[in-house]
Amino acid sequence: MTPQKIDCHTHIVNEEIRSSYFSRTDGYALVMEFPESLSAGVLLDDAWKTVKGERRLFLCPCIDLRTAIPPQLERIEERMQEVPVVGVKIYLTYQAGRADDDILMPVYEFCRRHRLTVTYHTGSCALTLPSDDDLEGSDAKYVARAAERFPDVNFVLAHMDDPRYMECIRILRDHPNMFTDFCGAYEPGTKEGSDMEWAIQTFARAIHQYPESYKQILYGTDFYAFSKEGDLEAWEKAFWRRPRFVRQFFETDGEHLYGNRPFRGVNLEKSIRDKIYRENALREMGEPRKIDVVYLAKKAEERLKMPNKAEAFADEDLAYILKNL
Ligand SMILES: [Zn+2]
Repeated sequence: MTPQKIDCHTHIVNEEIRSSYFSRTDGYALVMEFPESLSAGVLLDDAWKTVKGERRLFLCPCIDLRTAIPPQLERIEERMQEVPVVGVKIYLTYQAGRADDDILMPVYEFCRRHRLTVTYHTGSCALTLPSDDDLEGSDAKYVARAAERFPDVNFVLAHMDDPRYMECIRILRDHPNMFTDFCGAYEPGTKEGSDMEWAIQTFARAIHQYPESYKQILYGTDFYAFSKEGDLEAWEKAFWRRPRFVRQFFETDGEHLYGNRPFRGVNLEKSIRDKIYRENALREMGEPRKIDVVYLAKKAEERLKMPNKAEAFADEDLAYILKNL
């Protein structure tokens, strides 16, 4: 049986998003909690409770740069007995700051002690959330400095420092404890969304930039749920379909639609996909708990039989999961 994927970047922070995610795909997922300043008035963030009640989920609590950091670490330490915490999330760009700022050193020390990964938002922001827009602060070169000071800690740059993709991959090459994903790009309304072909080509190039680049790339869908004014229908369609989109991108060379836009997959060979889907993640965060494939198969079968699913393509994904377990 092929082991399941590990989705290293989701925002399954409440029950509604949880059931929506698992009716579309399956496997293990890391949940990035939002800081209050981003989620307030936008969506309910109940990440701790959501992860606690679902054995396929693991938590990355956020570190809020707008409030004092030591009490946040104490609070995480107290609560991590009851919930599987595998890392922390820092929302650079949205919250002004740099990865090598002194105030973050206790966070890295904490992560070293508890063997946790540090994930940053890097590069451009979603158009739907309030932001300090400190694009320069989230530059990969500052993360590299933190990674050099803490060689025992793993650092993940979500979104490949969008749009500084190639520079990001170049920096990763010299830092084995740095990883990246390219989830969450291509939304209608973003630069990548308006030039899908360019974005796909760029990511395809990034995977093969150096002979071993793909070993530092993680699978992530950035699954979340915000509404957006304007191009709402296309946008919603797009983000709900991210798991399927990423799979089509990695596993086929056919033409597909994402939102209303056509794209072609890059058809990676299986050994590379296995690294991106799972093996890199296990190296990045360590084996968090034994993978229970029997449980996963049961869940996928249950969902496959469920009538009136939100969208027909869920069946296709679930059948795929069962076939690949
Ligand atoms: Zn995200």
